[in-house]
Amino acid sequence: MAGEFDVLVIGGGPGGYVAALRAAQLGLRTALVEREHLGGICLNWGCIPTKSLLHAADTLRRIRGADALGIAVAEPSVDFVRVMDRSRAVAQRLNRGVAHLLRKAGVAVLEGHAAFEADRAVRVRLADGNEERLQARHTIIATGARAKTLAQLPFDGERVWSYRDALCARELPRSLIVVGAGAIGMEFAASTPRSEPGSRSSRPSRGCCPAVTPKCRSSSARPSPATVSNCAPARACEEQKSIRQACG
Ligand SMILES: Cc1cc2nc3c(=O)[nH]c(=O)nc-3n(C[C@H](O)[C@H](O)[C@H](O)COP(=O)(O)OP(=O)(O)OC[C@H]3O[C@@H](n4cnc5c(N)ncnc54)[C@H](O)[C@@H]3O)c2cc1C
Repeated sequence: MAGEFDVLVIGGGPGGYVAALRAAQLGLRTALVEREHLGGICLNWGCIPTKSLLHAADTLRRIRGADALGIAVAEPSVDFVRVMDRSRAVAQRLNRGVAHLLRKAGVAVLEGHAAFEADRAVRVRLADGNEERLQARHTIIATGARAKTLAQLPFDGERVWSYRDALCARELPRSLIVVGAGAIGMEFAASTPRSEPGSRSSRPSRGCCPAVTPKCRSSSARPSPATVSNCAPARACEEQKSIRQACG
């Protein structure tokens, strides 16, 4: 596909794919390079899959509160794997939707990692190992944000989770500490379905809590992961091509 474009967009998240669609609609020859998943963090690992989890948690809360309305229901049971699978499936569906929109608009999509070689020249290391060179009159850099690793709480994918680890979990932890009380932290705290009596999730803490790690380490019980939202790209899932594989 080596070639000249009017607009080259690097990054297929909401910032990038919408810009590419608009440029193509305006008649500009447009290419978009995405190294992981079209739809970016929002569709694949952020806004969308977390809403699916929130919806499940909210449904559980409503069922449990039904008695107060005079509706008798048996204690519901939660199939956590199915809850998580649905969240991934919703993300995957929207990811395919973005691919369809871009195709329909005539945007040339390349799967790979883009890097500047010169002012207007970009080299793309494609997912299949090959390379492409692209020239564009205008380049839009929409590569998103990176999550921050906290020195006291490095991610290990087991006890200390990034948002991606949390979205790939196959087992509901018995207790959970959410570090960070922004919108994302609040959502994770609210979306943990409490399936067993005695399981807990904390209110999000304001900052990093270094005491958590030593305490967990000294515990003989199964370690409790702390979800650290908005942190560095997780090692797990990072290199994987499809969302299914990523969570497999
Ligand atoms: C858990 C979570 C929940 C969230 N919930 C919400 C919410 O409810 N509402 C809301 O508004 N926002 C939410 N956000 C924030 C939202 O996800 C981001 O604001 C949004 O994704 C930013 O879009 P973007 O296009 O700038 O970047 P991104 O979505 O990060 O996309 C950037 C893309 O660029 C690609 N890329 C990076 N470098 C290269 C390269 N060199 N070559 C090729 N491709 C590259 C990446 O793979 C990525 O797909 C949430 C975030 C998280 C983590």
